[in-house]
Amino acid sequence: MTINSVRAATCAAAIALSLSTAQAQETQRDKGSALSILTDLTMEVSPRMAGSPAEARARDWATARLKALGFSNVTIEPFTVTSYVRGNESAVLTAPYPHKLAVTALGYSGTTPDAGISGDLVYFQTLDALKAAPAGSLAGKIAFVDHAMRANQDGSGYGPYGNVRRQGPAIAVQKGAIGIVIRSIGTDQHRNPHTGATNWPTGVTAIPAGAIANPDADMVALIAKTGKPMKLALTLTGRTTPDLPSGNVIADLPGRDPTLPKIIVACHLDSWDIGMGVIDDGAGCAIVTAAALKAQAGGKPLRTIRVLWAGSEEIGVFGGAAYGKAHANDPHALAMESDFGADRVWNVKFNRVAKPVADKVKAALNPMGIVPSADKADGGADVGAISEAQKLAVIDLSQDGTRYFDLHHTPDDTLDKVDPVQLQQNVDAWTAVLKVVANEAGEIIGE
Ligand SMILES: [Zn+2]
Repeated sequence: MTINSVRAATCAAAIALSLSTAQAQETQRDKGSALSILTDLTMEVSPRMAGSPAEARARDWATARLKALGFSNVTIEPFTVTSYVRGNESAVLTAPYPHKLAVTALGYSGTTPDAGISGDLVYFQTLDALKAAPAGSLAGKIAFVDHAMRANQDGSGYGPYGNVRRQGPAIAVQKGAIGIVIRSIGTDQHRNPHTGATNWPTGVTAIPAGAIANPDADMVALIAKTGKPMKLALTLTGRTTPDLPSGNVIADLPGRDPTLPKIIVACHLDSWDIGMGVIDDGAGCAIVTAAALKAQAGGKPLRTIRVLWAGSEEIGVFGGAAYGKAHANDPHALAMESDFGADRVWNVKFNRVAKPVADKVKAALNPMGIVPSADKADGGADVGAISEAQKLAVIDLSQDGTRYFDLHHTPDDTLDKVDPVQLQQNVDAWTAVLKVVANEAGEIIGE
């Protein structure tokens, strides 16, 4: 080999090396995009019910991914939960006409015998109608509660109509019911029932409680109008199960001044078991993580940004509570959360944010068509405990929820429902906000 050919070979090797470095960097960037995080989490883990082995795999997956993306202090913070382990499920209207209904158990439902239970089915148009039923009037019977939730942009129907699921079963117990089915808390017209947790106040014994798909609920409502007696056979063999392992995953992108209170951005890692956990809430984890990374472009921000991928949100916000307890003395300035799907951000809300900071955030979002709302930010479930305990500043980036409750807690919560353009718009909006707040040297918390 001549000197020149050695030089040429060295040069070729250098070019190859720099190309492979560039490719590696490109792959690294890709792995930090919201779509890539969401796609890989869905492909490699998929549903991850609170307290399940799948949720444990999701924590391990999250840890590996966050480390690979360059986060520091990547930690699993374990805790145990009482969760719901699904069993066999069926609901059949046996009178006056036979109809097989698409049913799913609510989380924490009571358990039927393997052969199921059977009883007269009593129709209530609203939760208030059920509340008005005389005590004992449902002895030996099964209640059906209807409602009229409709799709809207801000998802505000979920509060009042969601009470049918949260409170209806316990109210039915007070009336003597042996079981309850509700119209799914959802706005679609597919034969997909929507699950979700119900609550049993202390001293109330759980009864089997399920939700039926909207078209099936339409049929029950139609038959109820005929006045003919209805009967239902209901089988829900799932069980409420204590002492299951869960946990939070936290990871930091340290700021230039680690003494300044940090910014926390959250999502929940657990999902219901009947879908793939994409819009609820893989998308949230993908958005906050991609934005935290993107906020590093152009120079490390002043303040540390912490991501919290909370565990066991769906069954009672246990991860948020555990974080609030474990980090009560850890200084935070501002909390944000993404847990409303992957559709576009359309407005911004503030709570306890100093006016100069809020003004900068509004200005950063203004070119994106994101408008300020006069409503107060509530922060979201997983940052609720820490923001309440430390009276943190909170910013909400409200997403378009028009189709969220078509998919929420159903088998239809799948990757194909995500619009990559709207997902990226979320990341861009979050990045714009994080660049402001993580570089704020002054006081962030205000009145
Ligand atoms: Zn959620």
